[in-house]
Amino acid sequence: MKRILITGALGQIGSELTLKLREVYGENQVIATDIKKDNSEAAQSGPFETVDVTDFNRMMETAKKYKVDTIMHLAAILSATAEAKPVFAWHLNMGGLMNALETARELKAQFFTPSSIGAFGPSTPKNHTPQDTIMRPTTMYGVNKVAGELLADYYFYKYGVDTRGLRFPGLISNVCLPGGGTTDYAVEIFYEAVKNGKYTSYIDKGTYLDMMYMPDALNAIIDLMEADTLKFKHRNSFNVTAMSVAPEDIAASIARYIPGFEISYNVDPVRQSIADSWPNAIDASAAMEEWGFTWAYDLDRMTKDMIENIKKKK
Ligand code: NAD
Repeated sequence: MKRILITGALGQIGSELTLKLREVYGENQVIATDIKKDNSEAAQSGPFETVDVTDFNRMMETAKKYKVDTIMHLAAILSATAEAKPVFAWHLNMGGLMNALETARELKAQFFTPSSIGAFGPSTPKNHTPQDTIMRPTTMYGVNKVAGELLADYYFYKYGVDTRGLRFPGLISNVCLPGGGTTDYAVEIFYEAVKNGKYTSYIDKGTYLDMMYMPDALNAIIDLMEADTLKFKHRNSFNVTAMSVAPEDIAASIARYIPGFEISYNVDPVRQSIADSWPNAIDASAAMEEWGFTWAYDLDRMTKDMIENIKKKK
């Protein structure tokens, strides 16, 4: 049975991953940590510790206290926020990752951290973006993610740490709001649709980006971590995606469930230029072949579920 420490456990992914892992492995097997504590279910439903990932001693002491054998490192700042605070982003994203990898090395723990489609850049092929391709990102977040993929590979080759990772697309969810990414619009649009029947998008029409619904992302993490490594040719950077969509596609899908829903545009140049530097549609065939990646939610199924869940909260 795994004993897992999660960093950044109260964010968009962690708040749901913590609960899912507690369901699968048992509530006391999953130690949620974050820089702050709140009243969320993730913080209240099992062990919780306050851990700042830039504080190596605190992270190590917590991992040892609970004798963890798996570390899932989620604490980071995301693309749009990192662009506003690049020096801070380097310090947190790289410093936190290094501390988490060193903790995993010392405890001989299995290790997971997400990369992102943000690791690609304008010179990357935009369609069917291959697993192995040109990676020259033009954002601080992208630079952090490419360096992070390489660093996690390095810990596997040099020290034998069982590092694994996914290049996530924009993740859509309805438990915790996203924290400063470029694809946040794809979450906000559902909340605004239910509340006001309309949405003004900061990303322009015709901008295709990969997306995935959170339940599929959580299953992908668990499947990857449980996978037999026999077929692995990659480790820390599997492309995964469930759909490639532009704002008008999401709007059309919402209009099927909320008749009269309207989208308008007021483009934010910073987030638009980040989106323009990312692929339109990535190729996830390596993940399918090497560990059986699959997904359940296409755009319409996700839209239906998002709207039902947001309505329940009202
Ligand atoms: P988020 O911003 O929602 O959550 C990050 C969490 O980290 C927050 O709870 C925050 O309090 C915590 N945190 C911040 N600074 C910390 C520190 N110094 N010490 C400890 N905790 C700290 O992010 P998320 O969307 O859950 O993303 C998690 C990971 O997944 C990140 O590595 C991100 O790059 C990656 N990712 C996310 C998406 C997405 O769409 N959400 C897509 C691709 C990759």
